[in-house]
Parts: sequence; structure tokens; C-alpha cells
Amino acid sequence: MAMPQTIEAYRHPFTTGTEVKRMLINGEWVRAASGKTFESRNPATGDLLAMVAEGDKEDIDRAVAAARRAFEGSWSKFKPFERQALLLKIAEIVEKNYDELSMLDTVDMGAPVARTRGTKQRVLGMLRWYAGMATSIHGETIENSLPGEIFSYTLKEPIGVVGAIIPWNGPLGACIWKIGPALATGCTVVLKPAEEAPLTPLRLGELLMDAGVPPGVVNIVPGYGETAGAALAEHPGVDKVAFTGSHLTGQSIVRASAFNLKRVSLELGGKSPDIVFADADLDTAVPGAGMAVFANSGQICSAGTRLFVERKVYDEFVGRVADFGKSLKVGNGLDPDTQIGPLVSEQQYERVTGYLSTGRQEGARPVTGGAALTEGVYAKGYFVPPTVFADVNDNMRIAQEEIFGPVISAIPFTDVEEVITRGNATSFGLGSGVWTRDVSKAHRLAKGLRAGSVWINCYQAMDPAVPFGGYKMSGYGRESGIQQMEEYLNVKAVWIKTA
Ligand code: ADP
Repeated sequence: MAMPQTIEAYRHPFTTGTEVKRMLINGEWVRAASGKTFESRNPATGDLLAMVAEGDKEDIDRAVAAARRAFEGSWSKFKPFERQALLLKIAEIVEKNYDELSMLDTVDMGAPVARTRGTKQRVLGMLRWYAGMATSIHGETIENSLPGEIFSYTLKEPIGVVGAIIPWNGPLGACIWKIGPALATGCTVVLKPAEEAPLTPLRLGELLMDAGVPPGVVNIVPGYGETAGAALAEHPGVDKVAFTGSHLTGQSIVRASAFNLKRVSLELGGKSPDIVFADADLDTAVPGAGMAVFANSGQICSAGTRLFVERKVYDEFVGRVADFGKSLKVGNGLDPDTQIGPLVSEQQYERVTGYLSTGRQEGARPVTGGAALTEGVYAKGYFVPPTVFADVNDNMRIAQEEIFGPVISAIPFTDVEEVITRGNATSFGLGSGVWTRDVSKAHRLAKGLRAGSVWINCYQAMDPAVPFGGYKMSGYGRESGIQQMEEYLNVKAVWIKTA
């Protein structure tokens, strides 16, 4: 799809204003049983993009029943090769339609096209990696010590119906991260998109149907968290919930899951330390540490928001990161030059601007940014510029709580042991970064930091083969990697007496 000539004139073909986008249940596009709908708006302009069918418990019931039928029916007969071929077909169709999908992400949640298009190879790589995984599932034969002749082996079996509850901060990637492993392992899915950004998941649903995903194997039910999401989390017909979102919602999902003790994987929030030593290549570390937070307007769970800088370069480094932040172009995500788009919603805007006030009240000093952009082209959207707070101490709320906005809290430190202790002094443990040329320091930090990912001289590197997930209140279970496949599989031990 060609870029629009003018941003104002642009309407995405999938955005239809007042026409209702339906939900996908059992291979059919249906209205909500209640007939209710909700609005999807562009956070850069406030424009109405589409009305969306608002699913709740009844729709979730129907979708789970369809997913169960598919799981027990024809889908269970699909051989690994066939599931692989289906995933490769999906990759082909997603590739053909990537520009459209990425622009839909942009208009629905605000991220710049430079970013949503930039994730193309990663998303396609995920689909193709999951395709490979479909033919790589295997149990083991295990030697046992029982007397006599008794043979033991394991079978790996798909866990069943998966409830996938996803956030809005990268809708397309989030869908693939849940649907991919489910299809690879032979599970079926009921996916609930975030209410802030349901359009890409629905368009993806159309493409999945085009690719030949059988009815009921993937169902997509948009709706609100407290209704549709909660119904999915507590549903007795769901075998596993794969959740990405806030730790508070993660806690309610765990409580809801207790009813049938379904399996749960949680990829939650963070307050990740990003640690810059004076011996680092600062020319690389400045944009690296900056984009570790400013990318996607800070709406990334593993953003390196606590920027620890060795005291002897603190003033220089903080100044340079602030200048870098100031140099980034903030604007409508459809403008190809935009580097920082709007925040996703009014609620997110209130939250982030609230933290900007809190930071100032706590005595932190904004070196750049620090207030929302409200004039001219920014008037109708939720724009917050890259912000760097200096003079932050560990106890300030802006150093402890997840802001989910483009806000760096810069904190000075003196030595390795001290920064490990302070870096770990948070209830989260998702990402962490280290910038140094000293290999022994790098290894000490890699071992000492209590986080699911440690990025050294880079930040936010991701690959479908490498596990991603949290320590502590950042959740449990892993996405990507062989570890994620295990989350979608049951292990069965088989014993056979042979004599
Ligand atoms: P955020 O604060 O980043 O929007 P949430 O955790 O609120 O994160 O939302 C992530 C996803 O969880 C969304 O799809 C949302 O609708 C869903 N959700 C919110 N509350 C609940 C809940 N109580 N039960 C299940 N899902 C929920």
C-alpha cells in the first residue's frame, strides 16, 4: 500500500467509521450477542476509526465452545507438516499485507510507521520460526531403574484451548506471539485484543481465514478487560491463559485461573535498570539508552527506564541523552519522519502526565521534556515528548513505579556491587541493560542482575529462538524459544511392561 499523500486525507481501508467490525467465532464474522459496540479512535487525531463489536461473557462462551470443538475435532488430525505449512502460508499472506497491517497498528495505537513497518522481519521471522517448531516437537525415551522389563517414554501433547489476552502496545506482534505457538503445537485459541487497539487483530483474523485456518482454531473476541477478559481468564473450558499486560491485571488473572487451575503464563510490567559505565562507548550508549525508553513512546514493558549512570560521567551523559531526546521528531505516526508518536489513550496520557508532575514534586529536575505537547498539530492527540529527569533518587515514585511513557529517571552510581544491589531494588525483573567495554564487569552484571533479559551494549534485542520473560513481579513463563513451546504442551509419561 502506498503512503498517503497527506496525513489528513488518509483513511485506512479497514477503518470504516460507524460500520461495525464484527468478531471472529468459529470461522464466522458475528456481532456481539448483546449487540453492543465500542469505539476505536486514532490517538494522534481523535478521529473515529471504526465501531467494534463488544464481546462479553456470552461471546467468550461461544468462542471457547468453538475452540474446544475444533481442538477435539479435525484440528487434532493435522499432522506437524500440515501445521507447518499453514504457518508458512500465514507468513506469506502476512508478508503480502504487511504495509496494511503496520499502518493499521499506527492509526489504532499511534506508533510511527517507521516503527510498525520496521518490525516486519521480526514478525515474519516469528511465524517462520514457529512453523519450524511445528515439526520439532518430541518426547523422550527415559531409562528407568525399576526391576524387570518396563519401558518409559514421554509424549508431548497440545495443552488444549488457549485464552490469549494481549495488550495494545504492539498489536500485530502480540497476536503472532500467542497464535504462533498455539498453531505450532496444535492448540486452539480465543484471543481477546486490547480495547484500545482491536483493529489489527481483526484484520489479521481475516488473513488467517484466507490462509485456511480451520473454523474455531483461532477465534477473536474484542471487548473490555473486566468483562470479556475476565470471562476468558475464569472460563472452565480454557486450559491455559497466555497474558501480556500490567501486573495488577496479571494478579486478577491468576486469581481467576484458580477456579479450574488452568495453566497461566504472564508477561507483565517492568522498571528495568539500564546501567552506563564511564568506560562505555558513549556515542553508542547515548542513542541506545535513549531509545531503550523513548521507542514506542516508552510503551514497552522492558523499557530501560531507570538509567543508572556512573557518577563521573553523569552530567555529561544525562545532558547528551536529553539532547538526543530533544532531537527526536514527535508527531502523527503516519508521517514517515515521525520518530515518537502519541500515547495510546487518554487514560495513558493522564497517567504519564501525572508522573511528570509527581517527578517535579519529588524534586527531580526535567532536563528535557517534562510537559505534554498541546499546541497546533498536537492539540487533538495524546503527545508527550521524550523526557529526562535528573537528580532522581531510588525512593522516588518515578524511580519505582512503571510509568509506561517516554520518561527516563537518571540516577548516579559509583561502583559495580552498589549498582547491582540498587538495580535489583525493585519488585520487577523484566529487562536490564549494561553499557561497558570491560568484559569482566559485563559478566558480573549479567550474573548479578535479577531480570529475564540482560542486554549488554545493546537494548531490546529480540529473536523468536531466544526466551523472553520476567523474574519477580514481571511474571512467569517465557515467550519465544523452546521454553515458550513447553508452555503450550503437556507432558505425558507412558510406561509399558514388556515382559
Ligand atoms: P494496560 O494497563 O497496559 O492497558 P492491562 O493489563 O489493563 O494493561 O491490559 C492488558 C490486557 O488485559 C487488555 O487486553 C485488557 O483488556 C485485559 N484485561 C484488563 N483487565 C482484565 C481482567 N480483569 N481480566 C482479564 N483481562 C483483563
